Amino acid sequence: MTDQQKFAELHPDTLAVRSAVERSQYGENSEALYLTSGYVQTSAASAAARFAGDEDGFTYGRYGNPTVTSFEQRLAGMEGAEACISTASGMSAILMMCMGLLQSGDHVVCSQSMFGSTIKLIGSDLAKFGVQSSFVSQTDIDDWKAAVRPNTKLLFAETPTNPLTEVCDIAALAEIAHKAGALVAVDNCFATPALQKPMAFGADIVMHSGTKFLDGQGRVMAGALCASQKLVTEKFLPVLKSGGMTLAPFNAWVVLKGMETLDIRMRAQSAQALALAQWLLSHPQVDRVHYPGLESHPQHRLALAQQSNLGGAVLSVSIKADSPEHARARAFHVLDSMQVLSLSTNLGDTKTLVAHPASTSHGRLTETQRQAAGVVQGLIRISVGLEHLDDIKNDLLRGLDSLI
Ligand SMILES: *Cc1c(COP(=O)(O)O)cnc(C)c1O
Repeated sequence: MTDQQKFAELHPDTLAVRSAVERSQYGENSEALYLTSGYVQTSAASAAARFAGDEDGFTYGRYGNPTVTSFEQRLAGMEGAEACISTASGMSAILMMCMGLLQSGDHVVCSQSMFGSTIKLIGSDLAKFGVQSSFVSQTDIDDWKAAVRPNTKLLFAETPTNPLTEVCDIAALAEIAHKAGALVAVDNCFATPALQKPMAFGADIVMHSGTKFLDGQGRVMAGALCASQKLVTEKFLPVLKSGGMTLAPFNAWVVLKGMETLDIRMRAQSAQALALAQWLLSHPQVDRVHYPGLESHPQHRLALAQQSNLGGAVLSVSIKADSPEHARARAFHVLDSMQVLSLSTNLGDTKTLVAHPASTSHGRLTETQRQAAGVVQGLIRISVGLEHLDDIKNDLLRGLDSLI
């Protein structure tokens, strides 16, 4: 039985701890970390065949590595994808996707609520190379439909979004895209395959920042695209070979091992996030709580239907204030009063990370782009970790109860 046949019969939980390249002759139980930039070839003819793509085998570190392949196989298995190709970071996965699929004159439709750097990359950097883009409402399907043009090649959404946790209907986007002869890609960083498998709703490409929940302990940068074997081989691998946004084997190994606990972490952290969101709702200084697991969330039902009934581990809260300046000062006060939680712009860690999106992750956007994304000055994002819930609450109360 080949590895692929063996894995095809297993459940995602099993794949999360088992899927990897074959053991070496030493029979290691934990997957080996292959730190090598080159490979010794058995013959000149075999080397030629491998470089030509006629024979399987590793040729050079920029093109592939067994530890990196293990990570890719594992993520593909968990997403229910045919194939996966990894990159040095989440952003370089988006760059690879765009370079592989688009050329000058092509058009992309994105949600205006996407990750700040994604908006910058597609809206500004790629525009320099003639790629057109439209940024539409995350939640209004008619807006997506209206934005599609004859030259639209890609619809790209993130669900839930960072930091407002707005949810979009993946199946509806897939229908619009496919009718227009375009592909639909989903940034699945927030939900992860433990909660949401976009391909089951018709997505063609699932993009990941392995830096977040897949690693889960805030150690390394990583990224990936899951897609059909054809897209990976024909569109993305050539960009990797010439562009060189290769995932380092050590980073691949760290994330590979992190993924073994993804499911239990996502369940535990989602439960903590829901309890924290409910508690924050009742605090007198809190204006709004954005969390898909709350019934007050505008797309609560859709979120639960797409996300295995769980809201995920990230929530955002806006602090009451009289003006944007006041809101910013009050949000800063809550952050600066913390003694236990981390003031950090990362997310997806076992440690609770708290950030002020308007001045950090979304700081490079223009005020108009920031308003469109709903990132107000009083907004605080919390990536809920595994500390005791009472300690998380108490650390937030230090600032919330002493606001002026
Ligand atoms: C962090 C993040 C990215 C970018 O990933 P990096 O690994 O930091 O490059 C993309 N999308 C979302 C939703 C993210 O949170």
